[in-house]
Amino acid sequence: MTTRKEIADKIFPDVIETIQDLEKKYPPRPNPICSRFAPSPTGFLHIGWIFASLVEQRFAKQNWGTFILRIEDTDQKREIPGAVDLIIDWLNFFGIEIDEWPLWENNTDKWDYWPYIQSHRKYIYQIFAKTLIEKWLAYPCWMSESELEEIRTQQTTLKVTPGIYGNYSLWRNKTPEEIMQKLESDSNFVLRFRSHGDFSQRCEFDDVIKWKINMIDNYNDIVLIKSDWLPTYHLAHITDDYLMRTSHVIRGDEWLTSVPLHIQLFKAFDLPHPHYCHVAPLLKFDEEWNKRKLSKRKDPEADISYFFQSGYAPEWIIDYLLTIVDPAYEERQKANPSKNYLDFEIKIDHMNTSGALFDLVKLQSMNNAYLSKISTDELYNQSLIRANKYRPNLADLMQVDVDYTKAALNIERHTQKDPKRFTTFQDVESQILFFYDKEWEKLLPTKPTLPEMCTADNMKPFIEEYKQQLNLDMTLEDWFAQLKEIWKKYGFASNNAEFKEWWYIGKVGDLAMFMRIQLCATAKTPDLYSVMKVLGKDRVIERLGRA
Ligand code: GLU
Repeated sequence: MTTRKEIADKIFPDVIETIQDLEKKYPPRPNPICSRFAPSPTGFLHIGWIFASLVEQRFAKQNWGTFILRIEDTDQKREIPGAVDLIIDWLNFFGIEIDEWPLWENNTDKWDYWPYIQSHRKYIYQIFAKTLIEKWLAYPCWMSESELEEIRTQQTTLKVTPGIYGNYSLWRNKTPEEIMQKLESDSNFVLRFRSHGDFSQRCEFDDVIKWKINMIDNYNDIVLIKSDWLPTYHLAHITDDYLMRTSHVIRGDEWLTSVPLHIQLFKAFDLPHPHYCHVAPLLKFDEEWNKRKLSKRKDPEADISYFFQSGYAPEWIIDYLLTIVDPAYEERQKANPSKNYLDFEIKIDHMNTSGALFDLVKLQSMNNAYLSKISTDELYNQSLIRANKYRPNLADLMQVDVDYTKAALNIERHTQKDPKRFTTFQDVESQILFFYDKEWEKLLPTKPTLPEMCTADNMKPFIEEYKQQLNLDMTLEDWFAQLKEIWKKYGFASNNAEFKEWWYIGKVGDLAMFMRIQLCATAKTPDLYSVMKVLGKDRVIERLGRA
């Protein structure tokens, strides 16, 4: 008579360790609180991942626990080279500190719960799988694609619950002898869970975020080990989260319906399951003002590189995400503006359970308020840090004359008229570039068309006189009054009424536009006189003369 143990040994002859051995190797953590971020290395980082990892990290750290990064690469078709480094770089960029991560794999100084890359844990999964075969709670299955398809069709025709269970599983009820016989000649199989669940039963559990959940129990004999001998997500989750001693599995709520299966699997191993915390997805309004999930394909802001390319500071995104995590965060932060986000405790059981709106406009208005509020020195320092990283050429220019750059940044800031010029660092870059002569030269060919009456011939005499008269130490009112006087002589009316008189060639507005475009190579600038004061007389005359 063939025993279950013989089947298990036949399938995994090299597996000699047991779960108990692994438990000794990976003992409970001194502080039992542990959460993890478990992305697949596909190269695409969804903003929802930063959201989830932020929640996971804050939760662990608030409880003096551990936050780990585990790479879930069991679906090797989707993996791209360099993706692991990319994930670590992004977490660093957002300041989400990790306590244990895979980079130490080849180092002697490994973290205790390594390896943190699933494809390096094949042997560990096999120990778990072997244990289940010995308990007769897992079995090899040789069902072919066409057999599976046939069962699906049958179930649809009979209108019965779909899945591989009971008699629909062709290998579930085979005897150890029959299985052994097949094993002798065919090693191309998957390993399935022998579920004792039943779809007439319900599974009840507590979710930390979604509270009491009651759903149909698992009845499916799902695949645990695929034909490539790598585990499915389900077996990997049980194995890794148990051995890494994860206390709280915080993950996207697309996994919520798998919890009954996961609880069954933990029971099958006689192991306790962790606390589950299912995070609702980030949503946005579509064109018809319906809420839908932020989509990787449709929404550029779903990809975190969007924020980096558009010049958002990572801390703004973190700050904004925290307002989504915990609605009380914004108020508390406003009341204590000098505090860092790390000083606030977030409550994950306050999180939105059905999906929170990721509102780009709100994020932008928060950035805009922030950039207009900080001191000019701080604005300069932060802009320089970013420029040093991403636009070294601009960083050099910014440092040639620091006072000049600061004056350019500072136009009308902290005044009643504060135009709140900057929403992102990209705005900072684009709005100070023209202050530097070399950059202004480069921008000239792209400048907007000048008002048609402002030809070089028409402007020359005006510029000649202005060269003599220009005084940037005047008050705004005096400067403008003086300018209007001069403009008049050269054919520009002060107002519409005057313009109706036949001899004017244009209006004040036309000339102001001419000066703006000529001085800044763009029509979008802050207050013209303020810009001129920063540029200084020589530069103003030189630039006007180049019209
Ligand atoms: N690799 C899984 C995913 O990307 C992780 C789910 C989990 O956190 O358990 O969806």
